[in-house]
Parts: sequence; C-alpha cells; structure tokens
Amino acid sequence: MRHATLRTFKALSLALSLALACTAPSHAADPEPPMQAARVTPNTYYVQGLSQLGSPKNQNFISNAGFVVTPTGVVVVDALGSPRLAERLSGAIRQITPLPITHVIVTHYHADHIYGLQHFKDQGAQIVAHRSALAYIQSDTAKLRLEASRTDLAPWIDDKTRIVDADLWIDGPTSFKVGGVVFEVDHVGPSHTPEDLIVYVPSERVLFAGDLFFNGRLPFVGMADSSQWIRSLERVLAFDTAAVVPGHGAVSSEPRKDIGLTRDYLKHLRSTMARAVEDFVPFEEAYATTDWSAFASTPMFNFANRMNAYNTYLLLEQEALGKGR
Ligand SMILES: [Zn+2]
Repeated sequence: MRHATLRTFKALSLALSLALACTAPSHAADPEPPMQAARVTPNTYYVQGLSQLGSPKNQNFISNAGFVVTPTGVVVVDALGSPRLAERLSGAIRQITPLPITHVIVTHYHADHIYGLQHFKDQGAQIVAHRSALAYIQSDTAKLRLEASRTDLAPWIDDKTRIVDADLWIDGPTSFKVGGVVFEVDHVGPSHTPEDLIVYVPSERVLFAGDLFFNGRLPFVGMADSSQWIRSLERVLAFDTAAVVPGHGAVSSEPRKDIGLTRDYLKHLRSTMARAVEDFVPFEEAYATTDWSAFASTPMFNFANRMNAYNTYLLLEQEALGKGR
C-alpha cells in the first residue's frame, strides 16, 4: 500500500514536472524592460536606457531618448535601439499628450539610437540629422552591423528593421520652431561620431547632449575623435541649462560636475596611450601597466575600457604619423 502510494506520488510529480516543462517557454518569456518617461523641465521628458550591452532580454534599451511637448506637436530626440522600443516610447508620449510627433532629431547614427526610427517615420514624423551620417548609412559597416543585430537582437531586430535616412539633412547650426517653441540644433562632430548633434531648447533651458555625455558610466569611445570630443564638452557646458539629457545615464542638473567623468576619462585615455605610442610601448604592455584605478569601479568599465584604450592607441598612432613622426 505504502509502495503504491509512493509510486502514485512519483508518477504525479513526474506528470506535474512534465506539464511545467511544457508550459515553461511562456512562463519564462522575459518581461519587457521597464520604460518610464521622467519629467525633466515643464514640457520636456526622457526615458533612460539600461547601463548594459544590448541583448534580446533588454530589447536593446541601452540608450536614452527625450521629447519636448509643444502646443502643436511633439519633438523627439533619438529613436532608441529597436522598433519595439520606439513603439513603447510612442505609448509613453501618448500617456502625456495626444499631439502628433512632428520631428525626430537624431543625435548620431549609432544602432542603439536609430533602430527605432522606422516606427516614427511610419507615423509621419520628419527625421532630422547631420549630413555627415550619410557616409555611415551607405557603408558596409552599417549593413554588417544590422545583419549581425538581426541575429544578436532577435526578435526585436529582424528582416523588417531598416536604417532610415533623414528627411532633413542639416549642414551646420540650424534652428526651427514647432508650436512656437525654438529648437536650436548644432553640429559638434566629429567627436563621438562625425555627425554628432546637440539640441538646445531655450524656453526649457534644456540641452540634449547625445553621446558626447555619458552620465555615471564609462563612455564607448569607438572610432571617436577624442580630442575634438573633449573640446565639444566645453561647448555643451557653455549653454545656460536647468538640465542636460545625456545619451546614456541619468539626466544632469549639475553638468559641470557630471560631465567631468566623461572628460577626465577621455583625457586619461589620451595621455596614457599617447605616452605609450611616443615610447613605442606595444599596446598590450601599455594597457597592462596603466593605472586604471580612478575608473575601474565605474559602470561599464569591464565592457568598454580595453576597447576604448585600444582604439585610442590606434588613433594616437595615426595622429603621430600625421605629425610626420
Ligand atoms: Zn553612440
């Protein structure tokens, strides 16, 4: 009797675990990463991406986007890293206003800021960007990156995801009005990218700095012109602002203090790698002997620092060659 009960119990347990295993995929489906529009100034909001690498789990929500609500329409800055995220950003905007999204200003054409563009384009928004981005859009790098993302970020990036051109390519400082609100758009590249734009809204005293400014985490340097980037940060600081919205990390009401991390890090990269290049020290040795302690506990250090240092080393080698060394 006892054996029979035990067998029955074991059989039931097995049946239950099989049933759970069969239903597991729907239970295990990842919840969408939270997205909350935070108010920055009376008519300006932003959503803050996660301090992570892009993944299917986070839908590539690793960068910020902002928006300004004017009396006649909404102007969005950056489109986030997948069409699904852009759709969710639209939903967040709809919680605040029924007004149409008239423009999306693209601070630069890095994947995590632009893969959502097609959503806004399909809604009728005008896309605004700097003309220097065309070289990237037409490059094999952009095609290969998108191709890789279709695998790495599936299902959020798929065969329908496309890189969207701007409707309005700007060449230099430009300002326009929506609902009487002035948007001043300025080209500050080549810094983080050749096409970097910053967007200033005087009536809100708010500045969108794009990826010139990473707040509270290490920046991705990539193929950036870091000396120009350091100079451009001074231009960011020259604006009269109540708030500066970075490309990554939390909004800042104390930009002079918060931008210090990006600036000091870039300076440290340049000075240490310049010394190595000057002394013909191979990169591996230079990297191993550099003191990184001031930045080692900063979020994203482990993901980004080595690549940042390597790219900076290559850049400084080129700069040295350019000086005729
Ligand atoms: Zn970027």
